[in-house]
Amino acid sequence: MTVKTRFAPSPTGYLHVGGARTALYSWLFAKNQGGEFVLRIEDTDLERSTQAAVDAILEGMTWMGLDWDEGPYYQTKRFDRYNEMVDKLLAEDKAYKCYASKELLDEIRAEQEANKEMPRYDANHPKIKAVNDAAKDGDPCVVRFRNPKQGSVVFDDQIRGRIEISNSQMDDLIIRRTDGSPTYNFCVVVDDWDMGITHVVRGEDHINNTPRQINIYEALGAPVPVFAHCAMILGDDGAKLSKRHGAVSVMQYRDEGYLPNALNNYLVRLGWSHGDQEVFSREEMIEHFSLSAISKSASAFNTDKLNWLNNHYIKTSDPEYVAKHLEWHLDNQKLSTENGPAITEVIKLVGERCNTLVELVEQIRYFYEDFAEFEAGAAKKHLRGVAKEPLELALSKIEAVSDWSTEGLHTVIAQVCEELEIGMGKIGMPLRVAVTGGGQSPSVDAVMQLVGKDRVISRIKMALDFIAEREANAQ
Ligand code: GLU
Repeated sequence: MTVKTRFAPSPTGYLHVGGARTALYSWLFAKNQGGEFVLRIEDTDLERSTQAAVDAILEGMTWMGLDWDEGPYYQTKRFDRYNEMVDKLLAEDKAYKCYASKELLDEIRAEQEANKEMPRYDANHPKIKAVNDAAKDGDPCVVRFRNPKQGSVVFDDQIRGRIEISNSQMDDLIIRRTDGSPTYNFCVVVDDWDMGITHVVRGEDHINNTPRQINIYEALGAPVPVFAHCAMILGDDGAKLSKRHGAVSVMQYRDEGYLPNALNNYLVRLGWSHGDQEVFSREEMIEHFSLSAISKSASAFNTDKLNWLNNHYIKTSDPEYVAKHLEWHLDNQKLSTENGPAITEVIKLVGERCNTLVELVEQIRYFYEDFAEFEAGAAKKHLRGVAKEPLELALSKIEAVSDWSTEGLHTVIAQVCEELEIGMGKIGMPLRVAVTGGGQSPSVDAVMQLVGKDRVISRIKMALDFIAEREANAQ
């Protein structure tokens, strides 16, 4: 049997992290089993589904790298098929038409509540029976599934274990509305059957639908898939993850500077474990993933851990990969890297200092653009009279240096220290502020090497002018 899983979002909003994690688990399980992954858009709720949401979901899935082998299928394009199956159940008396009006059902519900009975649809209720007996073909009606009355539905949830629900707790579900449209629980079953889905991995919020759906599979003579219901994701504060917790759309994580590999790694560990391993390459995730190691309990989102992982991925990934994802941020923060060193070299040097790609762009502008001013605090502290002589000596040596390498520039700085009998900080910090405009950067020799000779020289001159002006003003 080829394993086939699916992700079946309703396009009523963007792809949020909860959905993305479900999609990831479903995708990973398919990959782990050498199976296939289907994407299906459940757009039967015409009022709430939008094309913008479909686009956002596809964009989110693509950004996460969760590629699908089949689809996207759209439920709205399959109404004929659902209706064909409703008609089949009607013909086999596994479903029936019900003519009871909404008003009548409301009235019966009120009676049941008044009698302290559980409100439920009962086809044998005398008032419903009377209406149905009197109805003529063509009168407005819904179609209801004849749910078995006896016994119970049992299934082995791959995450939650054995679940048993008595049929007496389920009433006859509407499978086709008065307007002729099939309902959600029915479409899902027909789809999963037609698409050959063997394993349904979905959110726990669907667990109550599962026994009803199993009865429908059985009535259709369809094989029942294996189910795995994933627990919720909670916010840092323990409440259900919502917009209130900030970024919940996966594209917002892109905007905030997370790498898809980091977010995937973060999400896979949010509710799944393999020993105490925290960092998983895609290949490792696929290799080790199993439904049985998914946690039953809800997991809390932890932004610090996501930041830690993102930093890890920025510093250890192939710089080409980071560069590819940095492009959006460079555009967004309007930084062109045309005039300066190869971005991959800059990533190798600065990446480890950043938790996000947003920070990375903020920290690398000086490699590509000149600045009009030094950062006030850093300049005040380091561009002082005492820095004049070291900077002048460094300037003359830098102008003359033939070996424009990190080592060559390291030697220049060491010589300045030696000749002036000063410590490294007395030249390193002024030089850093001169070359980068601020007080924080990676090792200044490596920074100078990438900034390039012309820029380094003009910036040291700018720093010397700054010191001169400062001294003149002080007099
Ligand atoms: N369309 C449902 C949702 O977005 C998922 C249904 C399922 O996975 O069976 O919540």
